[in-house]
Amino acid sequence: MHQILKVGFIGLGNMGKPMASNLVRKGADVTVCDVNAEPVGALAALGAKTGLVADIAAACDVVFTMLPSTASVEHVVAGSGGLLAHARRGLVIVDMSTIDPLATDRLAAEAAAKGVAFADAPVGRLASHAERGESLFMVGADAEVFARIKPLLDMMGTTVHHCGGVGTGMRTKLVNNYLAIISCQLNAEAIALSQRFGLTLEKTLDVIHGTTATNGQLKIAWPSKVLKGDVAPGFTIDLAHKDLTLIVEAANAVKVPVPIAAVAREAFSAARSRGAGARDFSAMVDVLCDEAGIQRARLS
Ligand code: NAD
Repeated sequence: MHQILKVGFIGLGNMGKPMASNLVRKGADVTVCDVNAEPVGALAALGAKTGLVADIAAACDVVFTMLPSTASVEHVVAGSGGLLAHARRGLVIVDMSTIDPLATDRLAAEAAAKGVAFADAPVGRLASHAERGESLFMVGADAEVFARIKPLLDMMGTTVHHCGGVGTGMRTKLVNNYLAIISCQLNAEAIALSQRFGLTLEKTLDVIHGTTATNGQLKIAWPSKVLKGDVAPGFTIDLAHKDLTLIVEAANAVKVPVPIAAVAREAFSAARSRGAGARDFSAMVDVLCDEAGIQRARLS
Protein backbone atom coordinates (compact mmCIF):
# COMPACT_ATOMS: atom_id res chain seq x y z
CA MET A 1 0.00 0.00 0.00
CA HIS A 2 2.86 2.39 0.80
CA GLN A 3 3.83 2.68 -2.88
CA ILE A 4 0.68 4.60 -3.75
CA LEU A 5 0.68 6.84 -0.66
CA LYS A 6 1.89 10.41 -1.00
CA VAL A 7 4.22 11.03 1.91
CA GLY A 8 5.31 14.38 3.35
CA PHE A 9 8.42 14.76 5.53
CA ILE A 10 9.05 17.96 7.51
CA GLY A 11 12.35 18.43 9.39
CA LEU A 12 15.51 17.13 7.71
CA GLY A 13 18.11 17.38 10.47
CA ASN A 14 20.49 14.76 11.83
CA MET A 15 17.62 12.25 12.04
CA GLY A 16 15.05 13.46 9.49
CA LYS A 17 17.48 13.68 6.59
CA PRO A 18 18.62 10.04 6.68
CA MET A 19 15.10 8.80 7.48
CA ALA A 20 13.52 10.69 4.56
CA SER A 21 16.40 9.51 2.36
CA ASN A 22 15.55 5.91 3.16
CA LEU A 23 11.92 6.48 2.19
CA VAL A 24 13.00 7.96 -1.15
CA ARG A 25 15.59 5.24 -1.85
CA LYS A 26 13.02 2.53 -1.12
CA GLY A 27 10.55 3.95 -3.65
CA ALA A 28 8.10 6.07 -1.62
CA ASP A 29 6.57 9.19 -3.22
CA VAL A 30 8.03 11.81 -0.84
CA THR A 31 7.70 15.60 -0.61
CA VAL A 32 10.11 17.24 1.85
CA CYS A 33 10.32 20.56 3.70
CA ASP A 34 12.84 22.20 6.03
CA VAL A 35 13.64 25.82 6.91
CA ASN A 36 17.25 24.94 6.02
CA ALA A 37 17.78 24.74 2.24
CA GLU A 38 20.84 22.43 2.37
CA PRO A 39 19.12 19.13 3.31
CA VAL A 40 16.14 20.00 1.08
CA GLY A 41 18.57 20.19 -1.85
CA ALA A 42 20.17 16.90 -0.85
CA LEU A 43 16.79 15.15 -0.75
CA ALA A 44 15.75 16.70 -4.08
CA ALA A 45 18.96 15.31 -5.58
CA LEU A 46 17.88 11.86 -4.39
CA GLY A 47 14.51 12.24 -6.14
CA ALA A 48 12.21 13.80 -3.50
CA LYS A 49 9.76 16.57 -4.36
CA THR A 50 9.97 19.77 -2.31
CA GLY A 51 7.17 21.96 -1.00
CA LEU A 52 5.89 24.22 1.74
CA VAL A 53 4.05 22.91 4.80
CA ALA A 54 0.72 24.04 3.29
CA ASP A 55 1.41 22.22 -0.01
CA ILE A 56 2.34 19.06 1.85
CA ALA A 57 -0.82 19.19 3.98
CA ALA A 58 -3.02 19.56 0.91
CA ALA A 59 -1.32 16.95 -1.26
CA CYS A 60 -0.16 14.15 1.04
CA ASP A 61 -1.82 11.12 2.65
CA VAL A 62 0.70 10.77 5.50
CA VAL A 63 2.99 13.52 6.85
CA PHE A 64 5.95 12.86 9.14
CA THR A 65 7.39 15.60 11.34
CA MET A 66 10.92 15.26 12.79
CA LEU A 67 11.50 18.58 14.52
CA PRO A 68 13.69 19.83 17.38
CA SER A 69 11.19 21.00 20.00
CA THR A 70 7.62 21.09 21.28
CA ALA A 71 7.28 24.68 20.02
CA SER A 72 8.43 23.78 16.50
CA VAL A 73 5.98 20.86 16.29
CA GLU A 74 3.13 23.03 17.58
CA HIS A 75 4.06 25.68 14.98
CA VAL A 76 4.24 23.23 12.05
CA VAL A 77 1.13 21.23 13.02
CA ALA A 78 -1.20 23.82 14.57
CA GLY A 79 0.25 27.23 13.55
CA SER A 80 -1.58 29.55 11.15
CA GLY A 81 0.37 28.27 8.13
CA GLY A 82 0.53 24.75 9.51
CA LEU A 83 -0.65 21.28 8.58
CA LEU A 84 -4.05 21.43 10.29
CA ALA A 85 -4.90 24.77 8.68
CA HIS A 86 -4.43 23.24 5.22
CA ALA A 87 -5.20 19.55 5.74
CA ARG A 88 -7.96 17.65 4.06
CA ARG A 89 -9.97 15.08 6.00
CA GLY A 90 -8.24 11.71 6.17
CA LEU A 91 -4.70 13.04 6.40
CA VAL A 92 -2.50 11.19 8.90
CA ILE A 93 0.09 13.25 10.80
CA VAL A 94 2.88 11.25 12.43
CA ASP A 95 5.10 13.20 14.82
CA MET A 96 8.45 11.47 15.30
CA SER A 97 10.06 14.29 17.31
CA THR A 98 10.58 14.00 21.08
CA ILE A 99 8.24 16.54 22.69
CA ASP A 100 6.05 17.23 25.73
CA PRO A 101 3.48 14.39 25.78
CA LEU A 102 0.78 16.81 26.94
CA ALA A 103 1.37 18.73 23.70
CA THR A 104 1.02 15.42 21.81
CA ASP A 105 -2.37 14.90 23.50
CA ARG A 106 -3.47 18.46 22.62
CA LEU A 107 -2.37 18.20 18.98
CA ALA A 108 -4.11 14.83 18.58
CA ALA A 109 -7.35 16.34 19.90
CA GLU A 110 -7.05 19.37 17.58
CA ALA A 111 -6.38 17.05 14.66
CA ALA A 112 -9.34 14.81 15.49
CA ALA A 113 -11.63 17.86 15.54
CA LYS A 114 -10.61 18.48 11.91
CA GLY A 115 -11.00 14.87 10.76
CA VAL A 116 -7.22 14.38 10.72
CA ALA A 117 -5.59 11.34 12.34
CA PHE A 118 -2.57 11.85 14.58
CA ALA A 119 0.06 9.41 15.77
CA ASP A 120 3.23 9.82 17.81
CA ALA A 121 6.17 7.70 16.68
CA PRO A 122 9.33 8.91 18.41
CA VAL A 123 12.55 7.25 17.45
CA GLY A 124 15.02 5.15 19.39
CA ARG A 125 18.66 4.37 18.64
CA LEU A 126 21.28 6.63 17.10
CA ALA A 127 21.60 8.81 14.00
CA SER A 128 23.97 6.16 12.61
CA HIS A 129 21.12 3.63 12.85
CA ALA A 130 18.82 6.08 11.04
CA GLU A 131 21.41 6.29 8.22
CA ARG A 132 21.31 2.52 7.82
CA GLY A 133 17.49 2.32 8.05
CA GLU A 134 17.79 0.56 11.40
CA SER A 135 15.78 2.88 13.65
CA LEU A 136 13.34 1.74 16.33
CA PHE A 137 9.92 3.37 16.59
CA MET A 138 7.64 3.68 19.65
CA VAL A 139 4.19 4.28 18.20
CA GLY A 140 1.13 5.70 19.93
CA ALA A 141 -1.83 5.31 17.56
CA ASP A 142 -5.22 3.74 16.97
CA ALA A 143 -4.90 0.24 15.50
CA GLU A 144 -6.18 1.39 12.10
CA VAL A 145 -3.74 4.31 11.90
CA PHE A 146 -0.90 2.06 13.04
CA ALA A 147 -1.66 -0.38 10.22
CA ARG A 148 -1.56 2.46 7.66
CA ILE A 149 1.79 3.86 8.76
CA LYS A 150 3.62 0.62 9.64
CA PRO A 151 4.84 -0.09 6.05
CA LEU A 152 6.41 3.38 5.95
CA LEU A 153 8.07 2.96 9.34
CA ASP A 154 9.43 -0.39 8.12
CA MET A 155 11.21 1.49 5.32
CA MET A 156 13.06 3.61 7.91
CA GLY A 157 13.68 1.11 10.67
CA THR A 158 13.93 -2.49 11.74
CA THR A 159 11.82 -2.42 14.93
CA VAL A 160 8.32 -0.97 15.29
CA HIS A 161 6.58 -1.14 18.66
CA HIS A 162 2.87 -0.33 18.94
CA CYS A 163 2.83 1.02 22.53
CA GLY A 164 -0.90 1.81 22.70
CA GLY A 165 -3.12 4.81 21.92
CA VAL A 166 -1.93 8.32 21.01
CA GLY A 167 0.62 9.67 23.50
CA THR A 168 1.94 6.29 24.64
CA GLY A 169 4.83 6.35 22.16
CA MET A 170 6.00 9.73 23.46
CA ARG A 171 5.72 8.64 27.09
CA THR A 172 7.65 5.44 26.33
CA LYS A 173 10.32 7.56 24.64
CA LEU A 174 10.73 9.75 27.74
CA VAL A 175 11.15 6.68 29.95
CA ASN A 176 13.72 5.28 27.49
CA ASN A 177 15.62 8.54 27.17
CA TYR A 178 15.70 9.01 30.93
CA LEU A 179 17.83 5.88 31.19
CA ALA A 180 19.88 6.60 28.05
CA ILE A 181 20.78 10.18 28.99
CA ILE A 182 21.36 9.45 32.67
CA SER A 183 23.68 6.62 31.55
CA CYS A 184 25.61 9.18 29.53
CA GLN A 185 26.15 11.41 32.57
CA LEU A 186 27.08 8.44 34.78
CA ASN A 187 29.55 7.22 32.15
CA ALA A 188 31.10 10.68 31.95
CA GLU A 189 31.71 10.76 35.71
CA ALA A 190 32.98 7.16 35.87
CA ILE A 191 35.36 7.55 32.91
CA ALA A 192 36.68 10.89 34.21
CA LEU A 193 37.42 9.17 37.52
CA SER A 194 39.18 6.32 35.69
CA GLN A 195 41.29 8.88 33.82
CA ARG A 196 42.18 10.70 37.08
CA PHE A 197 43.21 7.36 38.64
CA GLY A 198 45.54 6.88 35.66
CA LEU A 199 43.89 3.58 34.67
CA THR A 200 44.16 2.12 31.17
CA LEU A 201 40.94 2.99 29.35
CA GLU A 202 40.84 -0.24 27.32
CA LYS A 203 41.26 -2.38 30.44
CA THR A 204 38.71 -0.38 32.45
CA LEU A 205 36.12 -0.81 29.67
CA ASP A 206 36.98 -4.50 29.36
CA VAL A 207 36.22 -4.94 33.07
CA ILE A 208 33.00 -2.89 33.03
CA HIS A 209 31.63 -4.69 29.96
CA GLY A 210 32.11 -8.00 31.80
CA THR A 211 29.93 -6.94 34.76
CA THR A 212 26.38 -5.66 35.17
CA ALA A 213 27.72 -2.09 35.40
CA THR A 214 27.85 -1.57 31.64
CA ASN A 215 25.15 0.07 29.52
CA GLY A 216 24.35 0.54 25.85
CA GLN A 217 25.75 4.08 25.71
CA LEU A 218 29.13 2.96 27.02
CA LYS A 219 29.24 -0.33 25.15
CA ILE A 220 27.72 0.54 21.77
CA ALA A 221 27.71 4.31 21.30
CA TRP A 222 30.84 5.69 22.98
CA PRO A 223 33.55 3.55 21.33
CA SER A 224 32.60 4.95 17.91
CA LYS A 225 31.99 8.51 19.18
CA VAL A 226 33.77 10.44 21.93
CA LEU A 227 36.24 7.69 22.86
CA LYS A 228 37.66 7.82 19.35
CA GLY A 229 37.54 11.65 19.29
CA ASP A 230 34.34 12.06 17.22
CA VAL A 231 32.01 14.54 18.92
CA ALA A 232 29.99 15.54 15.83
CA PRO A 233 26.27 14.88 16.50
CA GLY A 234 24.57 12.31 16.56
CA PHE A 235 22.36 13.54 19.30
CA THR A 236 23.41 16.91 20.67
CA ILE A 237 23.96 18.00 24.26
CA ASP A 238 21.28 20.65 23.53
CA LEU A 239 18.71 17.94 22.63
CA ALA A 240 19.68 15.77 25.62
CA HIS A 241 19.12 18.81 27.87
CA LYS A 242 15.76 19.36 26.16
CA ASP A 243 14.76 15.74 26.82
CA LEU A 244 15.80 15.84 30.49
CA THR A 245 13.72 19.00 30.88
CA LEU A 246 10.73 17.20 29.28
CA ILE A 247 11.32 14.23 31.60
CA VAL A 248 11.49 16.34 34.79
CA GLU A 249 8.37 18.29 33.81
CA ALA A 250 6.35 15.25 32.67
CA ALA A 251 7.30 13.28 35.79
CA ASN A 252 6.56 16.20 38.11
CA ALA A 253 3.19 16.70 36.40
CA VAL A 254 2.17 13.20 37.54
CA LYS A 255 3.88 13.56 40.95
CA VAL A 256 6.80 11.21 40.32
CA PRO A 257 9.98 12.70 41.79
CA VAL A 258 13.04 12.23 39.54
CA PRO A 259 15.89 13.85 41.50
CA ILE A 260 18.64 12.21 39.44
CA ALA A 261 17.11 13.56 36.22
CA ALA A 262 17.07 17.04 37.74
CA VAL A 263 20.73 16.87 38.76
CA ALA A 264 21.79 15.46 35.37
CA ARG A 265 19.79 18.15 33.59
CA GLU A 266 21.87 20.80 35.35
CA ALA A 267 25.11 19.03 34.33
CA PHE A 268 23.94 19.28 30.72
CA SER A 269 22.93 22.88 31.38
CA ALA A 270 26.47 23.63 32.61
CA ALA A 271 27.94 22.00 29.48
CA ARG A 272 25.73 24.21 27.32
CA SER A 273 26.82 27.32 29.21
CA ARG A 274 30.42 26.40 28.34
CA GLY A 275 29.55 26.32 24.63
CA ALA A 276 29.32 22.54 24.21
CA GLY A 277 25.60 22.37 23.29
CA ALA A 278 26.12 21.49 19.63
CA ARG A 279 28.46 18.56 20.37
CA ASP A 280 27.36 14.92 20.53
CA PHE A 281 26.02 14.10 24.02
CA SER A 282 28.81 11.57 24.53
CA ALA A 283 31.09 14.64 24.75
CA MET A 284 29.83 15.15 28.32
CA VAL A 285 32.94 13.21 29.35
CA ASP A 286 35.20 15.71 27.54
CA VAL A 287 33.42 18.59 29.28
CA LEU A 288 33.97 16.99 32.67
CA CYS A 289 37.61 16.09 31.97
CA ASP A 290 38.34 19.63 30.73
CA GLU A 291 36.70 21.13 33.80
CA ALA A 292 38.74 18.93 36.15
CA GLY A 293 41.99 19.32 34.22
CA ILE A 294 42.05 15.59 33.37
CA GLN A 295 43.35 14.19 30.08
CA ARG A 296 40.46 13.40 27.71
CA ALA A 297 39.62 9.70 27.45
CA ARG A 298 40.53 8.23 24.04
CA LEU A 299 40.88 4.67 22.82
CA SER A 300 44.22 4.12 21.14
P1 NAD B 1 18.09 18.60 14.29
O1 NAD B 1 18.13 19.86 15.05
O2 NAD B 1 19.34 18.04 13.68
O3 NAD B 1 17.01 18.71 13.11
C1 NAD B 1 15.81 19.42 13.19
C2 NAD B 1 15.46 19.93 11.78
O4 NAD B 1 14.20 20.58 11.84
C3 NAD B 1 16.49 20.95 11.26
O5 NAD B 1 16.91 20.58 9.95
C4 NAD B 1 15.71 22.25 11.26
O6 NAD B 1 16.13 23.14 10.24
C5 NAD B 1 14.29 21.74 11.04
N1 NAD B 1 13.25 22.69 11.44
C6 NAD B 1 13.18 23.39 12.60
N2 NAD B 1 12.05 24.14 12.62
C7 NAD B 1 11.43 23.88 11.44
C8 NAD B 1 10.20 24.36 10.87
N3 NAD B 1 9.43 25.24 11.51
N4 NAD B 1 9.86 23.90 9.64
C9 NAD B 1 10.63 23.01 8.97
N5 NAD B 1 11.79 22.55 9.47
C10 NAD B 1 12.17 22.97 10.69
O7 NAD B 1 17.44 17.51 15.27
P2 NAD B 1 17.51 15.90 15.17
O8 NAD B 1 18.74 15.42 15.88
O9 NAD B 1 17.23 15.49 13.76
O10 NAD B 1 16.29 15.53 16.13
C11 NAD B 1 14.94 15.76 15.73
C12 NAD B 1 14.03 15.24 16.84
O11 NAD B 1 14.26 13.83 17.03
C13 NAD B 1 14.28 15.89 18.21
O12 NAD B 1 13.06 16.04 18.87
C14 NAD B 1 15.18 14.88 18.93
O13 NAD B 1 15.06 14.98 20.33
C15 NAD B 1 14.67 13.57 18.36
N6 NAD B 1 15.65 12.48 18.30
C16 NAD B 1 16.96 12.70 17.94
C17 NAD B 1 17.85 11.63 17.87
C18 NAD B 1 19.32 11.82 17.47
O14 NAD B 1 20.12 10.89 17.68
N7 NAD B 1 19.70 12.95 16.89
C19 NAD B 1 17.42 10.33 18.14
C20 NAD B 1 16.08 10.12 18.48
C21 NAD B 1 15.21 11.21 18.55
